[in-house]
Amino acid sequence: MALYDPKSPCADEFINHQEIVDTLAYAEAHKDDLDLCRRILAKAHPNVAPKEEHCTCITHREAAVLLMCDDPGINAEIKQLARQIKLAYYGNRIVLFAPLYLSNYCVNGCLYCPYHAKNRTIPRRKLTQDEIRAEVIALQDMGHKRLAIEAGEDPKNSPIEYILESMKTIYSIKHKNGAIRRVNVNIAATTVDEYRMLKEAEIGTYILFQETYHKENYLELHPTGPKHDYCWHTEAHDRAMEAGIDDVGLGVLFGLDNYAYELVGLLMHAEHLEARFGVGPHTISVPRVKPADDIDPTDFDNSLTDELFEKIIALIRVAVPYTGMIISTRESQAVREKALQYGISQISGGSRTSVGGYVDEERPHDTEQFDVSDQRTLDEVINWLMENGHIPSFCTACYRAGRTGDRFMDFCKSGEILNYCHPNALMTLAEYLTDYATPATAERGWRMIADEVTKIPDARRREICAANIEAIRSGDARDFRF
Ligand code: SAM
Repeated sequence: MALYDPKSPCADEFINHQEIVDTLAYAEAHKDDLDLCRRILAKAHPNVAPKEEHCTCITHREAAVLLMCDDPGINAEIKQLARQIKLAYYGNRIVLFAPLYLSNYCVNGCLYCPYHAKNRTIPRRKLTQDEIRAEVIALQDMGHKRLAIEAGEDPKNSPIEYILESMKTIYSIKHKNGAIRRVNVNIAATTVDEYRMLKEAEIGTYILFQETYHKENYLELHPTGPKHDYCWHTEAHDRAMEAGIDDVGLGVLFGLDNYAYELVGLLMHAEHLEARFGVGPHTISVPRVKPADDIDPTDFDNSLTDELFEKIIALIRVAVPYTGMIISTRESQAVREKALQYGISQISGGSRTSVGGYVDEERPHDTEQFDVSDQRTLDEVINWLMENGHIPSFCTACYRAGRTGDRFMDFCKSGEILNYCHPNALMTLAEYLTDYATPATAERGWRMIADEVTKIPDARRREICAANIEAIRSGDARDFRF
């Protein structure tokens, strides 16, 4: 029987089933111990939490106790603390991105995904480089600067060479004042050599969702194809890090298995990356299963209420305070509005999840990966963020300045964010307002910028930022960053 070892390279040891079972039993036994819950919360307070070595503030066991606790007072404290932590480490900025679906050919049999190989009703499509160019121009014309490229797994139709060529195409397009400055990649688990190629092609974050940490269920949900190999999939982030990609993204597809099991597995995965590589995950995503072609989410008996979903988001924020947290347009405006208060730091906007969806006037549905709940335009999302007090940011500076992996984490812990990320957010927002915003969004945005510039602590930076914003607004100068 595999024993729990967070430093082990072996999936069965760092995501150890028995450790999860024991953790859930411990949480069940201690969930009514309100003093313990309060002590755990106190450990994670931004004024107390370790600023140096650790990316995690509370352990997976402690997070499980808080998750199981159903005391309304503790639940309110968890949310309040999550809000405080988000503001302390990330400020009121929210980074924006869009997914770009390159291909929906897939050799896997994932039971929850419409791309599964046996689905004969979904039209299969793979973008040519010319089509990618057209998509990227449409995305640039919306104002996007950061993409997450997505593809099904198919060595023949979308081999690594296709992904690399597509990244090159995306980075090369400079249309009007537009540019895609960071390309994150969400493709199937692969080899160290292929991760090295992605690194050379200037990947931003390598994102791979675990789907479920419950091995037995994982094997059933992925009955055929290379993704069936649980250890190969679960150890993928390790291989990516071995290849030099130090920004990796985790995620669970909530709804497939018991949420408590998943939260514990997810936090154990973060602890493992930190134990083995000295740096935790750059991002954590929180997708939930959605209806799609040939997919009915009620087939998976583990859907969770919005309230529990919010609590899980808040707990991830409390447990892993420096990690970026992503919520996509799978969720409605109402759910996203709440999630933003409990720790989310990145959202997608104006998304189309079909292959080739951005060039069409009307939202196409035929090749969609999942139904998009939040169907607003990017401009509507930007306006709404500002209305709710968040600064929309198109910043990609850290990655381009080499602040990735542990350097990003150190930077995040150093408290320098207000002197770097805050002005960078404002300058990229100024680009958006000048080049793409509707008059109503622009008006609200310039008011916000005028107010937020005054909050940059360093006087010299404040001056430079204000001058750069003026240069953006009155001319074609772009891409300033600290
Ligand atoms: N092919 C890559 C892989 O094997 O990991 C990932 C690309 S897939 C386009 C991106 C993610 O979409 C998957 O990892 C899965 O979590 C999510 N997804 C699949 N079906 C979904 C559904 N019905 N609802 C919501 N998300 C879904």
